[in-house]
Amino acid sequence: MNEWSSLTAGLPVWLEQARHAAPFGKVASYIPELSKADSSMLGIQIRGADGRSVSAGDCGSPFTLQSISKVFTLIMALMDNGEEIVFSKVGMEPTGDSFNSMLKLELVQPGIPFNPLINAGAIVVSSLIAGSSNEEKITRIQSFLGKLAGRGPLQLDEDTYRSESESGNLNRSMAYFLTDNGVLQSKVEDVLEVYFKHCSLTVDCGELARMALVLALDGVDPDSGERLIPRRYVQIAKTFMVTCGMYNGSGEFAIDVGLPAKSGVSGGIMALLPGRAGIGIIGPSLNRHGNSVAGVHLLEQLSKEFDWSLF
Ligand code: GLN
Repeated sequence: MNEWSSLTAGLPVWLEQARHAAPFGKVASYIPELSKADSSMLGIQIRGADGRSVSAGDCGSPFTLQSISKVFTLIMALMDNGEEIVFSKVGMEPTGDSFNSMLKLELVQPGIPFNPLINAGAIVVSSLIAGSSNEEKITRIQSFLGKLAGRGPLQLDEDTYRSESESGNLNRSMAYFLTDNGVLQSKVEDVLEVYFKHCSLTVDCGELARMALVLALDGVDPDSGERLIPRRYVQIAKTFMVTCGMYNGSGEFAIDVGLPAKSGVSGGIMALLPGRAGIGIIGPSLNRHGNSVAGVHLLEQLSKEFDWSLF
């Protein structure tokens, strides 16, 4: 990236401007533990392929990945099973419905989830993670995501996991529906444990930016040069990020920001500039689509300023 000096100077200013958007959104409350987050919090780190990084705002504190984890469990399921098996159980199309909707599962045959980034699809993907026990599956996810983040295994936020498991009846009903349709073959509670736990793994903005950077580099570790993910699977993941990563806000985000990105209901956003940089953001106040309202604002500003759109 050649815009480091302007980024370093401007980022704290743009971040404080974007923070003004936070009161226009709401912190997620359907998972009770998430409602404790500070709605005015906003932090960002941008990590370049050249080893440089810049951060601003509240970027030191950990937050749960939530739906951002779905990008990486999809990659793991592809690495464990191959494309044919994964896409016999989950589709490739946006839904036009909210991330936790199960409407189309009944309406559109053959009753497989539309894509791996909505909850129903991610639950199916969780059932495809290899491992002889739930513990092994979860440990594999923690280690793989930790490696991408440039650290040891990611830590589980037990309180968020418990809170989501206790309140996750909508996800539970989807899983039973998918079992009845023959799409889910493992025990519902086992699959949901894997799903809720990978959503409750924690990162900070810097770690999230590094995970994004690995995707920006088509699956290669920025420090060691080791290939961590086959290029084809990164291509699939990035394409889903463009078409479905910001849920029903994906079209508007593609027009206003123009980068592959994935949001989570904790307020995290992971975005990437192909070949150049990874971005990690936290801003818990969400817009109506479930995306960080201030985070989206900040990315719009940056994309405009530096002409980052890919389109
Ligand atoms: N764990 C959350 C859920 O299942 C993930 C949703 C999200 O981040 N959009 O509802």
